[in-house]
Amino acid sequence: MTSTTSTKPAGTVAERTALAAARIADLLGPDLVSTDAELLLKASSDWSRMSPVLQEKVPAGRYLPDAVVRPRTGDDVAQVLKAAYEHDVPVTPRGSGTGNYGQATPFDGGLVLDLRGLDSIRVNDSGTVTAGAGAKITAIDVAARAAGRDIWIYPSTKGSTIGGFVGGGSAGTGTIEHGSTSDGFVLSLTVAPMDGSGTTFTVAGPDVAPYVHVYGVTGVVVELEIATDPAREWVAVYAAFDDWDAMTGVHRSLLDLPVLPRLASADPPALVPSLPASVPLDPAKHSLRVIAEASTVSEVEARVVAGGGAVVASLADYAETDKLSSMSYNHPVYFLQKAHPDRSWFHMETGGLAHWDAPAAVQEAYDGDVHLHVELMGHAPLAMVVADYVCEDQVLAGIPRLEALGLGVHSPHQWYVDRNVELARETARTTDPKGLLNPGKLVDAPPVDTRLNIGVR
Ligand SMILES: Cc1cc2nc3c(=O)[nH]c(=O)nc-3n(C[C@H](O)[C@H](O)[C@H](O)COP(=O)(O)OP(=O)(O)OC[C@H]3O[C@@H](n4cnc5c(N)ncnc54)[C@H](O)[C@@H]3O)c2cc1C
Repeated sequence: MTSTTSTKPAGTVAERTALAAARIADLLGPDLVSTDAELLLKASSDWSRMSPVLQEKVPAGRYLPDAVVRPRTGDDVAQVLKAAYEHDVPVTPRGSGTGNYGQATPFDGGLVLDLRGLDSIRVNDSGTVTAGAGAKITAIDVAARAAGRDIWIYPSTKGSTIGGFVGGGSAGTGTIEHGSTSDGFVLSLTVAPMDGSGTTFTVAGPDVAPYVHVYGVTGVVVELEIATDPAREWVAVYAAFDDWDAMTGVHRSLLDLPVLPRLASADPPALVPSLPASVPLDPAKHSLRVIAEASTVSEVEARVVAGGGAVVASLADYAETDKLSSMSYNHPVYFLQKAHPDRSWFHMETGGLAHWDAPAAVQEAYDGDVHLHVELMGHAPLAMVVADYVCEDQVLAGIPRLEALGLGVHSPHQWYVDRNVELARETARTTDPKGLLNPGKLVDAPPVDTRLNIGVR
């Protein structure tokens, strides 16, 4: 893989990392630096195994770091980056490692920075939450709810870190109302640059953009302030339908509820049996699952019945809404893969109205069994198009067919920074002049057919 250092540093990456690691052990204490083989293997990959394409290209163990560092504070991170800069050592930030594009894979070795020790959480008087980058979103949500606040959005991997969600994720529960991580969710960020300064700086408002969804190539985020709403009472509603059109008719109607749902996920029968729902789901029926605000539940139920469906359950328990969230976004694909280890499934992320209006045409993008998991979004649904995997060419061949239906397509089978690329490049010239942060992710010319052209707004 590539890095963009201008003069070739002396020694191998492993040798330089050993020098930097010794310096870091002196500064932070030896316990925070590890070369344990099992840990290095764990830090060598993420959930890219969900993609059969990436499973072949970036499997665990192929790109091993030379050491893992576990800082506890933002100042620790700044010192680690200073030592790494001085010894020309690549650094790959890492939260919980649930990213599914291989974007936390340390292509050039060096240091993996395990940020989970930066786990402070503070609910501010204004209602916003300030958290260390390594704080788990589950813990942030508990603290926010205890203070009467709802965090705007969170992914179906709620156990992931807030820094990883902002660094590598994009959308989830709450997105119907609040959009993606790029839509005002992040109010301010404190960043440690890889410029030899050993300092951090804070940016706010629109200036956070170069640090969102860029896989840490512009700096390591050490603390974030995120947006919240006054807490609402949420209810987990399960509904079942005999056919796709009846279900999607209700699904799309939810956009005009007086209070938007926090989540609304729709699945065909093929995906239903593998969902770990709290209530029994009929495997012959289509499943619609809604996190509805309490005052809208009777209206949602009425629409389900008027649309020809049946209400399976409405559970007024916040933990049940977490359960619904954990069956959203990429999770139904994961559960399908888990339930059928004998088969190889891949998915493509697509956005647009064709999922509702022309599902058969979407399914024709690939041969064999093709299933659509659909999430309600601000203006058009997002879907995971799930199909049998044959080879990478077959996966890519479907993209123009999906685009011909007016769908935006994001291939989850590549690891390049594919949003705000120019902004990231321009910012990294100052914040990472040696190209040491997460090497191989900010590339000059990603293949056209794997570029992101999907937006959640
Ligand atoms: C089954 C499944 C379901 C998923 N559902 C969703 C979903 O609903 N919505 C969604 O958006 N994503 C989803 N994802 C993707 C993933 O869960 C999110 O991207 C997640 O929030 C990543 O958090 P993490 O702590 O695991 O980060 P990691 O995977 O450790 O890191 C993600 C990226 O951010 C970088 N990074 C990590 N921490 C920092 C930091 N402090 N500063 C700078 N860069 C950093 C890493 O280098 C990496 O490039 C899903 C993944 C799986 C496997």
